Amino acid sequence: MLNDIRNIMISEEEIAKKVKELGKQLTEEYSGKELLIVGILKGCMLFLSDLVREINLPLTMDFMIVSSYGSTTKSSGVVRIVKDLEREIEGKDVLIVEDIVDTGLTLSYLIENFKTRNPKSVKVCSLLDKPDRRKAQVDIEYIGFKIPDEFVVGYGLDYSELYRNLPFVCVLKPEAYMEK
Ligand code: 5GP
Repeated sequence: MLNDIRNIMISEEEIAKKVKELGKQLTEEYSGKELLIVGILKGCMLFLSDLVREINLPLTMDFMIVSSYGSTTKSSGVVRIVKDLEREIEGKDVLIVEDIVDTGLTLSYLIENFKTRNPKSVKVCSLLDKPDRRKAQVDIEYIGFKIPDEFVVGYGLDYSELYRNLPFVCVLKPEAYMEK
């Protein structure tokens, strides 16, 4: 698996430092609120599990699985909810936790969908942001790292369901895509 990597874009240490900073900021900003963390699976899983351990507040968690029609490396903008939330979000301060915002199409769909359920607030925390590729305008209140327009894997992000368990964010060699 390590042979498939072209370069590490964000190291384990940089991620850990940023997650701590975000956790501290969220602890301050959500103090006294009814925080509900909504993870968008599967990409969020490593980020979310590290992040919640840095938030020193009572909070609840729920998860959604969405799938975007299209190829594995290109989002089509048509979002299908594969698994919905288990509980109502009415009156809650919802924080959506995402792995990456690329075109923004998935997130803009989700934010609109959530708003119809009457939460007190909806904000977004994304580990990565690829602003160059944006097609839908979305406000991301908490961003880990802005990255250039390259397809990345690791720390929860996959290519063809592989590489999610890498502890850093990296770019694959072109050959890695051809073999799968
Ligand atoms: P968007 O709707 O913003 O274009 O796409 C969001 C989703 O596309 C992400 O949650 C992620 O699953 C996938 N995605 C976008 N860019 C990348 C990338 O560079 N690497 C990986 N592994 N997935 C990506």
